[in-house]
Amino acid sequence: MDHNALQQYDREHIWHPYTSMLNPSPVFPVASAEGVYLTLETGEKLVDGMSSWWTAIHGYNHPQLNQAIHQQVETMAHVMFGGLTHRPAVTLAKKLIDLTTDNLQHVFFADSGSVAVEVSIKMALQYWVAQDRPEKNKLLTVRNGYHGDTFGAMAVCDPVNGMHSMFKNILADHLFVDAPRCDDQSAWKAEYIAQFKQTLAQHQHRIAAVILEPMVQNTGGMRFYCAEYLRQLSQLCQQHHVLLILDEIATGFGRTGTLFAYQQAQIEPDILVLGKALTGGYMTLAATLASTKVAEGISADQHGVLMHGPTFMANPMACAVANASIDLLLASDWKSKVKRIEQQLQGELARCTDVAIVKEVRCKGAIGVVELHQPIDIYWMQPRFVALGVWVRPFNKLVYLMPPYIINPAELKKLTDAIYQVIHEFSDRVH
Ligand SMILES: *Cc1c(COP(=O)(O)O)cnc(C)c1O
Repeated sequence: MDHNALQQYDREHIWHPYTSMLNPSPVFPVASAEGVYLTLETGEKLVDGMSSWWTAIHGYNHPQLNQAIHQQVETMAHVMFGGLTHRPAVTLAKKLIDLTTDNLQHVFFADSGSVAVEVSIKMALQYWVAQDRPEKNKLLTVRNGYHGDTFGAMAVCDPVNGMHSMFKNILADHLFVDAPRCDDQSAWKAEYIAQFKQTLAQHQHRIAAVILEPMVQNTGGMRFYCAEYLRQLSQLCQQHHVLLILDEIATGFGRTGTLFAYQQAQIEPDILVLGKALTGGYMTLAATLASTKVAEGISADQHGVLMHGPTFMANPMACAVANASIDLLLASDWKSKVKRIEQQLQGELARCTDVAIVKEVRCKGAIGVVELHQPIDIYWMQPRFVALGVWVRPFNKLVYLMPPYIINPAELKKLTDAIYQVIHEFSDRVH
């Protein structure tokens, strides 16, 4: 198949994320990826602004990560995790436990972020069943959240853009409050947390856990909020005997400027969910960490076992590359790289506000967001970015960047220039 035939076959037979088989949006065949560049089958080289959805923090085709996979595949590609264990999994569990808050001492390895979120929900529900409080079976969350595409996770995604109406009567019915609306710049007001506080107090007897993304709401709107909200939310959860689940799948491993976003609020979650950048973008792997209180609490009724166990649980190759990725991150000067990216994004994306269709520009860590007043047209916009030699994947009203940490200033400039230009052109088209 030449690349045209490849593209055509794909178009006719393969679903991509959130696409239609009837009128698929354009897809571009990638031949290889190296550093911050994706090389298409057609030979064009694109600067990657997406890190393949938060994951490829060290860039692509990294020699150390490659080596970790090579070594592992020649030792043991996979073994079942029921009744067996292995060095890559134990090493990774220890790393995650050592890097996170002291209360988190127990790890469940899952095969994707969504599954890890399911496991976190199961842990919370099973915990209360074992405490003889089965009526505590609701989750409380904030609007504009995103926690994955499986049914348990979908039920706590934003009810509007998570398409709750389509799955009405099937999704579990949970409690929602407005998304946090404080930012780091302005002074804290008690009213920011008032609705959460009231809902929690009123329904605590039936709430198992609060689940949310710390500091940055990702796919549900690329919104940032202040640490004080998270700090007070955590305190309120403790006061009202409700578990706190933090979904750190997107924010984990340095993206927001701290290794984990929750560290900015100096809190201890009961359950922490990690994924995405965990393997440096190499393989699908996620982890749900639980406190001793939760882990032991699940078994408090003497027969409670955690009811989950995926076939490919703790895949050794995925664990090995996760270990290598974490080592690489910790040995690098990731903090100043992320800071430098933040400053450059702030400096270079600011001018986008000159364009009338731009509502707001915001940056945090290695994340830069340009929010428009109206939804973008992916059929037109995606090929434009490719023509300019960059890989940017906008959605809804958002054009955003989260590049690999290894990106250099010239490469990042190419991304921000392309965004400015494409938004300008889009503005001319829609007016
Ligand atoms: C991506 C993401 C998920 C889902 O992870 P998958 O690996 O796509 O299943 C869940 N929560 C957050 C915050 C995410 O960013």
